[in-house]
Amino acid sequence: MKPLRPFKKNFYLAHVNVINRSSFEVDQYRRAKQITVEGEAPNPIQNFTEANFPDYVMSSIVKQGYDSPTAIQAQSWPIAMSGKNMVGIAQTGSGKTLAYILPGIVHINNQQQVTRGEGPVALVLAPTRELAQQIQQVANEFGSTSFIRNTCIFGGAPKGPQARDLERGVEIVIATPGRLIDFLERGITNLDRCTYLVLDEADRMLDMGFEPQIRKIIEQIRPDRQILMWSATWPKEVKKLSADFLEDYIMINIGSLQLSANHNILQIVDVCQEHEKESK
Ligand code: ADP
Ligand code: MG
Repeated sequence: MKPLRPFKKNFYLAHVNVINRSSFEVDQYRRAKQITVEGEAPNPIQNFTEANFPDYVMSSIVKQGYDSPTAIQAQSWPIAMSGKNMVGIAQTGSGKTLAYILPGIVHINNQQQVTRGEGPVALVLAPTRELAQQIQQVANEFGSTSFIRNTCIFGGAPKGPQARDLERGVEIVIATPGRLIDFLERGITNLDRCTYLVLDEADRMLDMGFEPQIRKIIEQIRPDRQILMWSATWPKEVKKLSADFLEDYIMINIGSLQLSANHNILQIVDVCQEHEKESK
């Protein structure tokens, strides 16, 4: 076996405001934003400046005109930038995509460039084509200032163009699990350079039966890679997956764990007449 090339994954330089904040102030912020953490989580940042992102990332945030980081971003950026494994649970619409794309961009910019024939540095797995394409839009908007290339890999579309992108070499691959395995098995790409792995909408991927494919993909990635897993809910299947692959990880949750929807319950609405109710 080839020895693995060392790589850097800790890029976090805590802002002086963040370091100096008292634990009382940190607790107050977490309570106000309904952030709960498990594990040794660094203090959340409270505004974009405190994230200490490089200028090429900050300029794209400024361009979007966002006021402040969302709760999940505030707590996850310091963790993700430190190179640590994490699980982030937060409902849809809470800004999870940027929570992993921005640290991912910094991670990529600190690695050697991907050359032709090499696989991606960052891999984002997502359950559906639509979602993968939405993530790609974000990667396009925020990756352009540092010339990061990406491609989107999903089933139900011709393989030729996707294969050509992979062969040319891209820093980020955003993929649905099935089509990626197809390309991996045919040797069109590989995960030898992958050091930043994102599992987005982990609960939905497991609901859709992608667990064997996800396991097969993770097993091809070097064991010291950083993994970031995101989910709207925290069912036992997702817990099991993180226990199996993330080992030491920090978990953050936004809002109440109990109130999150359970995807394992099938709800059927049947509109009927009053007199039919009892028999149904
Ligand atoms: P999730 O993955 O949690 O469902 P998304 O990453 O899709 O959420 O983000 C939802 C929306 O919030 C997107 O339209 C995105 O542009 C916007 N958004 C992300 N971060 C911020 C922010 N800090 N301030 C305002 N809007 C944001
Ligand atoms: Mg999302």
